[in-house]
Formats: sequence, C-alpha cells, structure tokens
Amino acid sequence: MQDLSQNYINGKWVNPVGSDRIQIINPATEKPIAMIANSGADEVNAAVSAARAAFKDYSQTSKAYRVDLLQKILVTYKTRHDDIAQAISSEIGAPLTQTMALHAATVIFHLETLLKELETFEFYEDRGTTRITKEAVGVCAFITPWNFPVHQVSSKLVPAIAAGCTMILKPSQVSSTSTHILAEVFHAAGVPAGVFNLVNGAGSRTGDLLVNHPDVDMVSFTGSTGVGTHIAKCAADTVKRVGLELGGKSANIIMDDADLEPAVTAAVQGLFFNCGQNCIAPSRMLVPQSALKQAAEIAAKVVETFVVGDPNNEDTFLGPLVSKGQWNSVQNYIQIGIDEGATLVCGGVGRPDGLSTGFYTKPTVFSDVDNSMTIAQEEIFGPVLCIIGYENEADAIEIANDSPFGLAGYVQSASHERAQKVGAKLRVGQVYLNNPEYDFGAPLGGFKRSGYGREWGVFGLEELLEVKATIGFGQ
Ligand code: NAP
Ligand code: MG
Repeated sequence: MQDLSQNYINGKWVNPVGSDRIQIINPATEKPIAMIANSGADEVNAAVSAARAAFKDYSQTSKAYRVDLLQKILVTYKTRHDDIAQAISSEIGAPLTQTMALHAATVIFHLETLLKELETFEFYEDRGTTRITKEAVGVCAFITPWNFPVHQVSSKLVPAIAAGCTMILKPSQVSSTSTHILAEVFHAAGVPAGVFNLVNGAGSRTGDLLVNHPDVDMVSFTGSTGVGTHIAKCAADTVKRVGLELGGKSANIIMDDADLEPAVTAAVQGLFFNCGQNCIAPSRMLVPQSALKQAAEIAAKVVETFVVGDPNNEDTFLGPLVSKGQWNSVQNYIQIGIDEGATLVCGGVGRPDGLSTGFYTKPTVFSDVDNSMTIAQEEIFGPVLCIIGYENEADAIEIANDSPFGLAGYVQSASHERAQKVGAKLRVGQVYLNNPEYDFGAPLGGFKRSGYGREWGVFGLEELLEVKATIGFGQ
C-alpha cells in the first residue's frame, strides 16, 4: 500500500500534524492501495497562509511568465501521462484503455486549449480614458469529485495558473492517488512555492474548513447538488465568490426522422462509458412513442456487447462502480425503477455473473419510463438508461426540460436545422447536436440545479478574474 500521507504545502511535501488517515480502495479488488491524510485545521491554515503569501507576487506576474509556466507544466505532464492513467484506473476502476485514451489526456486538452486562447486574450482594455483590468480573484479553494479525476482538477488549476490566482486543492478522497502525481508534476514544472497547494482529506472535515476559511476568496466546486448548496451557504458568510458545477439528468431527444439504430447505439455507448459516472451522461433517452419498443431492443443488443470486468483487460468496456457506497446507491435506484413499474429491458439488481469481488453492477436499461418517476428525475450516476416515449416534438422538449437539472442536452435528427431549433429550446448549459466532436474550448456549466459558473477554455479563465476599473487612467 502506497503511503501518500503527505500534503503539498508551500512548495514542499509535508507530514500532517495529526495521525488521522483515509484508505484508498481499488474498487475492482476491494483492497486498499494507498493511504492519505484526513487533514485538519493545522494543514488547511498552513496551506491558506502559503497561498495568501504567494498571491502578492504571483498575481503580479506577466501573461508571458504564466504562459511559460503552463508550457512547462504541459511538457512535464506528458512524461507522467501513463502513470496518471494507471493511477486513475486503480483508484476509480475505469478500464485502463479508457484512462489512457481519455481521462489522462484531458489535462493535455485543457492546457493546450487555454494556451491557444492566451495568444489573443488581453487582461486589460481601455474604454475612453478608463482602463478595465481583469485581475486574479485571489486565493481559490478547489473541491473536486472522483469520476474524471484529473479532468475536473485541471479544469480549475489550469485557468487559475493563467489568471494569477493561488490555490488550495482538496480532491475527492477516492481519487487522490492520481492527484498526488499531478502535484508532483506542478512541483517538477517549477510552479512557485505557495501558488499551488494540495491538502487531502474528507469533504466534511478538510473541505468544510476550506470553504469556511476567511482568507479564501473563491470556492470552485464540482460535485453533487446537495454538497454544492451546502458549500454556497458556508461561503456566503465571508462573501466568497462561488462556482458550482453540479449534477445532471440529461435528455437525449431522438427525433422521428433520425436513423434509430446509429442514434440509439451512440447514445448507449455514451451513457455507459465510465460506468455511467458522467455528469453530462445522456441518461434519459427520449424516443417517439411508436419507436419505443424498437429503441429498447437496439439498446439491449448494444449492452449485450459490453464486456464488464477487470479494468486491466483490453476488452473491458465497464469496470466496477467507484465504491461500495456508489454500488449500494445504484442498486437502490434499479430496485426503485422496478418498483415504480418501468419495464426492465436488461440488467437489474445484483452483480453480473462470475464477478463476486469488486463493485461491479449490471448495465441496465429501463423502458416505458414515465418522466415523473424517481429514476427519471434523480441523478443515478451509474450504468442505468431510462427510455421515455414522447408524442410529438413539443412534448419531447417539454419532457426534456421537466427536470430539476439543466447541465446538458442532446438532439438527433436527419435535419440539422430541425436539431438546431429543438436545441435552442433546451434549458441546459451544453447542447450536443448529432454527435459532434468534443470541444474543450466550449464552456461547461449548468442551468437550474446543475449549478452556476462556467469552466473550460477562456470561460474558465474569466470565472477566476475580478474586473477593476481605473477611471482617469488615460488622462
Ligand atoms: P460529492 O459527494 O458532492 O463530493 C464532491 C467533493 O466535495 C469531494 O471532494 C467531497 O469530499 C467534497 N465534500 C463533501 N462534503 C463536503 C463538505 N461538507 N464541504 C466541503 N466539501 C465537501 O460528489 P462526488 O460523489 O465526488 O461526485 C459525483 C457528483 O459530482 C455527481 O453528482 C456528478 O453529477 C457531479 N459532477 C458534476 C460535474 C459538472 O461539471 N457539473 C462533473 C463531474 C461530476 P470527499 O472526498 O469526502 O468525497
Ligand atoms: Mg459522493
């Protein structure tokens, strides 16, 4: 078992004061792989002080200096890419082929996207004789989830480095082995002492201390809606700026003119990727009432081709769920779906045959789902698809928007113009029309209870900047 008890504070790896530790479990083997600190006030205070002290100089550095630093991080990161992919696979159980191809690569995408934006981005502009400057918001606390560990972490750290902010990261305890390597990358790349600090621990302890700390200027959080609302309340007392990237229950509208087979196939692959633990997962599939039966058959056929098992096996498409807690929660939702009267097309409760160790679950498809059912309204965050029938286009849009969430939406249509029109009516932060290429320069963020604030590319940078007006600058 790896001992990762040290935090990274003020440019050094330091032992925590207390002896409280958390074990990291490999969800495929159910065995501990690492140990981290459950940090308390001593560690949090030291990290915030270091970030506050470093802010004075770092916030004044030039754009050229920060671009150079990001380039050094990019070069160093590439040398650790495979280590990160391996660590993510062991800590969250995602297949190694997927952590190699996507998870670990996302850091490179975020770095390259922002470096490109910075070629033209200006931190000031003159409006008449008034100078408008965009300055670093200050000391940031970043609190992140486990489902795409380094992706979510880097979508905060990269723009913070670019903005001139200093930061304290508290990653999900579940995924702290990959984040440990990321901290080693920041150190090796020469990020100045105090600019980046890593403090491990439980959200209810370490995270809580950070969001309540009077010397933190901003909290940027990615995670569940429940924790997000709690954090926003804590941050209000000291008027911290807050960014919230929360849950989703995204609708995928398959229009009556769409070619059903490829549309359903792509949607099923999209949802079940990362074992359905994806905030923008197309977890509600909306199909014309007349196509419901056929869509369910196609979905079941696709699910049958998925290999569930050892994340190290090249053929595996679904590894285990991340933890026992997540397994219990998903099992519970599957049972609720059955009890609510949805048609179980494939999957169901229990572990897949032959997998008695590891938090494996059966990829599950429900059809004849009514949008008012619990399984259609709540985020399951697992490999469970809900297929919902609709009467006509207006009904489809109505159902799609009938959700407390508003993170993403998907539209499939043979007429791209029609897809555009339907997409324009969805109350969500990201719309995907006809399975487009991924765009890391596009903003990510939610409407409604999916949060507020935007990440990725230049939008993530703007989020970490304060606007200052110097009137009379040009006189
Ligand atoms: P979570 O339980 O809300 O936890 C997220 C982070 O908050 C973890 O680091 C957690 O610490 C910490 N935390 C928990 N309680 C806290 C408190 N009282 N004060 C401060 N921090 C606290 O979410 P998760 O289970 O890790 O991730 C799954 C959720 O994230 C899903 O709802 C998903 O939709 C959402 N998500 C959203 C996006 C997006 O961009 N919108 C992206 C990915 C995931 P621990 O280490 O103790 O867990
Ligand atoms: Mg959680």
